[in-house]
Amino acid sequence: MSDRNDELFDRARAVIPGGVNSPVRAYGSVGGAPRFLASAQGAYVTDAADTTYVDLVASWGPALLGHAHPGVVGAVQDAASRGLSFGAPTEAEIELAALIAERVRVGAAAPVERVRLVSTGTEATMTAIRLARGYTGRDLLVKFSGHYHGHSDGLLAAAGSGVATLALPGSAGVPAPIAAQTLVIDYNDLDQVREVFSVHGDRIAAVIVEAAAANMGVVAPLPGFNAALADIAHAHGALLILDEVLTGFRVHPAGYWGLQQEAGERYTPDLFTFGKVVGGGMPLAALGGRADVMDALAPTGPVYQAGTLSGNPLSVAAGIATLRLATPAVYARVDAAASTVAAALHDALENAGVVHSVPRAGSLFGVAFAAEAPRSYAEATAQEAWRYPAFFHAMLDAGVSLPPSVYEAWFLTAAHDEEALAQVLAALPAAARAAAA
Ligand code: PLP
Repeated sequence: MSDRNDELFDRARAVIPGGVNSPVRAYGSVGGAPRFLASAQGAYVTDAADTTYVDLVASWGPALLGHAHPGVVGAVQDAASRGLSFGAPTEAEIELAALIAERVRVGAAAPVERVRLVSTGTEATMTAIRLARGYTGRDLLVKFSGHYHGHSDGLLAAAGSGVATLALPGSAGVPAPIAAQTLVIDYNDLDQVREVFSVHGDRIAAVIVEAAAANMGVVAPLPGFNAALADIAHAHGALLILDEVLTGFRVHPAGYWGLQQEAGERYTPDLFTFGKVVGGGMPLAALGGRADVMDALAPTGPVYQAGTLSGNPLSVAAGIATLRLATPAVYARVDAAASTVAAALHDALENAGVVHSVPRAGSLFGVAFAAEAPRSYAEATAQEAWRYPAFFHAMLDAGVSLPPSVYEAWFLTAAHDEEALAQVLAALPAAARAAAA
């Protein structure tokens, strides 16, 4: 059946590579034409064929409050009426930076002393790495297989042949000498962390880790893993960069780090990266951390970073409004909605006899077609991923839009009320049967 989405996909492919401006949107791993969205409101999105879906993508995370929250849209409209971009400092930037620092605080621990606003998560991680290198005077970076930190060259690196071997390019166009500045090791394996540090310790500037992995499906860090990373990095004079672009201000008011502090896992990252929720759906991201490290950024320090649109007034307005509206009640609602859907997902797959797990990290969860929740990229990719396209399309046919890849988290929002959740729950049994086939 050809509808308006098919027509638009054809037109898009004629002028945009693959028809999309970010690859996963193309439905490559589930098949079919992507839904071209025309509008979004609360828990729902409406496509170009005028079909409305309950949305579990939430713009890949930012829409914590639901789409087009009037408090956020109003703040952006107000800001727009005063000018779209100044290329000069504004008072609102101070307010947002202070809000971020204030939020990432548990008890006496307040590890975000300075904040720099940028426009995308990619820029935040890229800058954090340059800063770690400039601050330590070292070149090597440790990252984990299956962790996504944006698309800068050094982060698109694939593991070499051995644990302590420098990485290979993870994309065409990444020069081998740049990939070779990264060491890629398995997640949740502290022996490998110790091994790379024992071989290359005095050349490693930083370890970068997703606070909880959510770009290979949801894979939470094992208890004590993040704290041990901080200890090992610090013992070797390296920094820990905690990437909270996806988890920050989503799973807890103080991010996944905050959730862990409250659970008693105490550690101090040197740098944090934030994105998604912090911009409330507008292009905004940030890095923050220790004052002595952050002050190595230009203009105070020797590490260059800049941006015409950095601290854009519309994005800053959206960020401030979102963080102010993201009260503890919002997090409680999102947690409860996640628990409801995760439990129903498990029941549906169990009843259909499909081998599965429902991995979870705070309110983030997803599906894995494997009996045990994966702990690493090797385990995540060993699942029966081929079951997902049928499952995904059955949900879509029933009016529920899931992420178009099994390796993505499902995102709930504070706008997912009983009616929206009921529609998701009603769709699950048939989708689980489709996955069983
Ligand atoms: N870091 C993490 C953990 C992410 O999930 C993402 C994007 O999904 C990024 C960095 C890159 O952010 P952006 O897409 O805004 O460049």
